[in-house]
Amino acid sequence: MAYEVDYLPVGEGQRSGDAIVLRFGNFTGPRDQQYIIVIDGGYKESGEALVKHINYYYGTNEVNLVISTHPDIDHASGLCSILENMDVKELWMHKPWEHAQDIKNFFKNGQITASGLQEKIEKSLQYASDLDSIAQKKRIPIFEPFQGLNAGGVIQVLGPSKDYYQNLLPHLKDMPAPKPSLGIFAPLIKKAEEAVEWIEDNMNVDLLNDDDDATSASNNTSTIILFNLDGHKLLFTGDAGKTALFNAITYAESLPTPILLSDLHFLDVPHHGSKRNISSKILRKIKTQTAFVSAPKDSDKHPAKKTTNALQKHGAYVFVTRGTSLLQHNQGNARGWGNAQAEPFHPKVEV
Ligand SMILES: [Zn+2]
Repeated sequence: MAYEVDYLPVGEGQRSGDAIVLRFGNFTGPRDQQYIIVIDGGYKESGEALVKHINYYYGTNEVNLVISTHPDIDHASGLCSILENMDVKELWMHKPWEHAQDIKNFFKNGQITASGLQEKIEKSLQYASDLDSIAQKKRIPIFEPFQGLNAGGVIQVLGPSKDYYQNLLPHLKDMPAPKPSLGIFAPLIKKAEEAVEWIEDNMNVDLLNDDDDATSASNNTSTIILFNLDGHKLLFTGDAGKTALFNAITYAESLPTPILLSDLHFLDVPHHGSKRNISSKILRKIKTQTAFVSAPKDSDKHPAKKTTNALQKHGAYVFVTRGTSLLQHNQGNARGWGNAQAEPFHPKVEV
């Protein structure tokens, strides 16, 4: 089966983001023999660029599925352009406000009502509620992508589970104080940014650590999706952190027909290649031939050199957008684009 994965450039300076589109099927046949999926839209400009890209390169204004991995501005805000301007058949995104009834007892203050909480969540997660409003206006059906959602075995949601998701919600920003017993899901308080220190790296050492999960609760709500295209496995991770990824691995391995993630053709590296989001434990389970990182041109933290080196040690060719588009294709169309340069191995990495 032919497929193309397009990464559009997002952000500048330290501002990262994801704007991704995947097309698969019969590229020489009619439109209904192809499936087009947008995974996050970056900011407003990258959302607009995605519309043009799909119109121009795919010759259509119809998108079968839009997936919003999580409600952060650098992933969700650009999707408004897609929903407004294109013929979108289905939207997958979490609607945190609809979980208010289930989580209202997760807070220290016992007086919180479901309706008060619902309103608070809708206000604080503006980009997600905007997408919800446009989808309602345009009668686009929305499904919440929880572990187990499966479209014909081709698209499988590996995470988050509904339980894990609901336990993360009280830790999103602007939420009332959660009960201390929910603390295990709380993100660690980050240390103040220190000056970067460097150490030497080589192919025979392992510098990643399996420390506690330090990414935000919002990042850990990211939808983790596996595509199986005629035996080619492609894994997309949003900004998922170590806990979320490990939950997804465990789920995949525990299915009646276990799915291993150690033979991927393609990996979307989580959270713009941050060193906080992967560990040695995870890279022993998730192995890929090709890895893409969506990161801006001038960032010194995205991707971390430690991360791109570690992926190479586990056998991957790593490519980083840095202000350009990247295309991975199988029997697709190279569009006359030149070959991208794989990330080199960096002899010195961040401590
Ligand atoms: Zn992000």
